[in-house]
Amino acid sequence: MPRALFAFFLKGGAAGLIWRNVEVGSMTRFIFITGGVVSSLGKGLASAALGALLQARGYRVRLRKLDPYLNVDPGTMSPYQNGEVLVTEDGAETDRDLGHYERFTGVSSRRSDNVTTGRIYSTVIARERHGDYLGATVQVIPHVTDAIKEFVTADLDAEDFVLCEIGGTVGDIESLPFLEAIRQLGNELGPGRSMFVHLTLLPYIPSAGELKTKPTPHSVKELLSVGIQPDLLLCRSDRPIPDAERRKIALFCNVSEAAVIPALDVATIYRVPVSYHEGGMDIQVCRHFGLEHDHEPDLGRWHDIVERVLQPEGEVTIAVVGKYMKLLDAYKSLAEALAHGGIANNVRVRLEWLDSEVFEKEETAIHHLEHVHGILVPGGFGERGTEGKIAVARFARMRRVPYFGICFGMQMAVIEAARNMAGLPGASSSEFGATSDPVVGLMTEWNKGNEVVHRDTDSEMGGTMRLGSYECRIAPGSRVHGIYHALTIHERHRHRYEVNIHYQERLKATGLVFSGMSPDGLLPEIVEIPAHPWFIGVQFHPELKSKPFAPHPLFTAFIRAAVEQSRLV
Ligand code: GLN
Repeated sequence: MPRALFAFFLKGGAAGLIWRNVEVGSMTRFIFITGGVVSSLGKGLASAALGALLQARGYRVRLRKLDPYLNVDPGTMSPYQNGEVLVTEDGAETDRDLGHYERFTGVSSRRSDNVTTGRIYSTVIARERHGDYLGATVQVIPHVTDAIKEFVTADLDAEDFVLCEIGGTVGDIESLPFLEAIRQLGNELGPGRSMFVHLTLLPYIPSAGELKTKPTPHSVKELLSVGIQPDLLLCRSDRPIPDAERRKIALFCNVSEAAVIPALDVATIYRVPVSYHEGGMDIQVCRHFGLEHDHEPDLGRWHDIVERVLQPEGEVTIAVVGKYMKLLDAYKSLAEALAHGGIANNVRVRLEWLDSEVFEKEETAIHHLEHVHGILVPGGFGERGTEGKIAVARFARMRRVPYFGICFGMQMAVIEAARNMAGLPGASSSEFGATSDPVVGLMTEWNKGNEVVHRDTDSEMGGTMRLGSYECRIAPGSRVHGIYHALTIHERHRHRYEVNIHYQERLKATGLVFSGMSPDGLLPEIVEIPAHPWFIGVQFHPELKSKPFAPHPLFTAFIRAAVEQSRLV
């Protein structure tokens, strides 16, 4: 099948790169999702839920995100700025919304599913330097907009629908080239192949006792000013929207009343696909594209998940001891994966977010952990708070509380074992500076001349980590073997430092074994303490692959261990 609907071609002579609308037979339809009124309305979630709803009607979907900031990718941004960085299978550092897409649709995102203004401009400027534009004055329109259209339509597998979310809020200066590009695409594809969905907010004003509709037509006016007439409005509201208000919005915004869909607050995010269906969204989308909509979509999977989330049979408490506690979006996939572990075990997972620095400052801080049924130390960067994490790993090991270390959390558990059990008091990670015993370090530090991995302390910060999916070989008979029921697995990575294989024997003598290794046997990927009820550290990020309808086995097993622990406490 054709990989793209459109192709760039280099026209001979002085005209340079020209976007040409080339129909190559695929019937992929494009749904563009914009947002207005205020930010943080949950456009990513809305896009993901619409994707799930279309899948429930038997369609193949792909979700994409256009981000208007100038960073080439979000990899160098602080989690406080942009939340979690979502690493794709093919090793791209992308926007966290791609996590929602994957969790709702199960479709693995690719590098080509997220593009930023920074990447678009880098591409255009590189082409200009290369001479590709051959004498042309390089401009936002058409060169930047052409590059955007190229990204939106490239690397497809003839999906039925591509859902393309535009980051930011209409009216932002920086999203203008993106809006212009999707306007052009809508025009070139025609309404039979394109649709514009706009997410807005109906605020409730308590003193008036009313839901206010006015911001919605204002936001649509902004869209119209760049030439986009939305086909469907998705209206966030904390209470049901009266029909009269929906009629009013339809009238002012030039859409049919049936195309004003309520997006009401729901008890769990996994209810959103069902809620959109109840609002008539899938029928409206099908109608727009002239598709059959007489049969009911198969939403059984979502009904089942919602029931398990809302009617658990018990509860466990998990302490998450990390660094970015002021913005929990930094741990979005992690929180979801823990909830999925709860779904698998029919329990509610109550999370207590603890800043690891607390365990450095307060002598008695460990009492924060006395009542929890499991401890998770997630990924992180930099030295701040690490002594606290090490203290927490020690507590979990000695008190036999289930411990799950992810990436940094694994590295801290290894340092703890080295210091307190293997007689290496100076053990540390070279991430924090020179150390006598780098039990965690850059691979080049102990494997000079290795040609496979080129990372050193002078490397650039952007895109220099071990990123994306890597194979891991599991030790037969280990606890993780029983959890995965497999000897070869693939998981996603995002880190610079590695546990140092040279300490394997000394650590093993203390009871901490390397139960997962890279295929070449050089990189420890999983550690565990067989004599402990549940103590596992993984160098990768399993939370990125967990789905509500397919909870990740490590999270299922961790929560099961927490349930067992809750019977003891
Ligand atoms: N800072 C550590 C490293 O780079 C761990 C990174 C992480 O937890 N994702 O290796």
